Amino acid sequence: MAHSINRRNWIRSSALMAGGLAFLSSTVSKLAAMPVVRNIGFNRITDETAIMDAAPVMKARLLANENPFGPSPAAKKAIVDSLDTSYQYAFASISQLSDNIAAYEGVKKASILLATGSSPLLLAAAMHYSKGGKNIITADPSYDDLPTQATRFEGKWVKVPLTADFKLDLDAMEAKVDENTGLVYVCNPNNPTATIVDTQKLKAFCERVSKKAVVFVDEAYIDYLPDPKAASMMGAVTAGQNVIIARTFSKLYGFAGLRCGYIVGQPETVRALSKYTPGGMGLSATTVAAAIAAYQETAFLKDALKKTLASKEYLYSVLKKEGYTYIPSSANFVMFPLKMEGPKFSSEMMKRGVGIRHWKFNEQDWCRVSIGRMDEMEAFAAAFKELS
Ligand code: PLP
Repeated sequence: MAHSINRRNWIRSSALMAGGLAFLSSTVSKLAAMPVVRNIGFNRITDETAIMDAAPVMKARLLANENPFGPSPAAKKAIVDSLDTSYQYAFASISQLSDNIAAYEGVKKASILLATGSSPLLLAAAMHYSKGGKNIITADPSYDDLPTQATRFEGKWVKVPLTADFKLDLDAMEAKVDENTGLVYVCNPNNPTATIVDTQKLKAFCERVSKKAVVFVDEAYIDYLPDPKAASMMGAVTAGQNVIIARTFSKLYGFAGLRCGYIVGQPETVRALSKYTPGGMGLSATTVAAAIAAYQETAFLKDALKKTLASKEYLYSVLKKEGYTYIPSSANFVMFPLKMEGPKFSSEMMKRGVGIRHWKFNEQDWCRVSIGRMDEMEAFAAAFKELS
């Protein structure tokens, strides 16, 4: 038989296979021990390479504003339970998730567009509102994904410096709006400064500015506020204004790797942006099941908030003790001025197994440190003491 193997060949091929397996397993263990994960084709021109090139095994992963206390046990159970039917398209559960979000936000389903995190929706808005060389107005520094993407198409980026207390300068942003403005991006709380703007002021801003250009309010970190509903600009959408609200499960819900987010806007806006994305159909059945289980799961959210707050208080005390100031934070990350160059600080911290991010603005180097578990904050403190 062509496929039969005699004993000698069998021993030979077994030895080869064993050698192969040994080679494979040593390669695998070498790979696992490699300190650095190289760029895996994440085609971005922002500073995301800092994240993509981060060491896979860190004592403290404080560089991407994730929530290490999530996802919730209910979300994890829902993932496992949904596996048996995951051969099916998740039409029904995608529709249910939209229903749940619509009910909570008090909007019609046609006002909601789901996606694999909010990033694809930021990209959709960047593509749509930069058409014809329009301007995208943002604070500086702020989350730069949407404007960066816009400049990859036809958009121009108008940057407006923060106020002296590191908040979005809404008046200065409004003053920049003209007939060439496609979109005004408001990140509240702002990344990387974790500051918030006055709610009444932002409401009035949305009402006025949305008559001239679409206002995109990125509320990725709103769940970290004591009363997210009160601070949200969702009311501007229900009042019929030309406002888009972006939300994500990546932060307080702990879904950064699971990928689920949405925008809420006027139905015609949602229809226009849906041309750029597969929307809910991009989501896996497992993620949708987890999101349904996790959405507004109050006990879990409260607990994660409590732990985040405890870690943040600890971080504040460490910074004070070492003679550093910081910007009081309304989110799960803290920005503070450094006493050395940012790139050097980042690489020295990474050598000590602590991942953070650095910025430079107002002629000053800054560190943004995400809030992690207490053991991660202690690892940060130990490394930081060696450098400060
Ligand atoms: N918006 C802000 C302000 C963010 O900080 C992030 C991620 O860090 C995102 C949006 C994108 O998040 P995701 O695509 O995971 O929803």
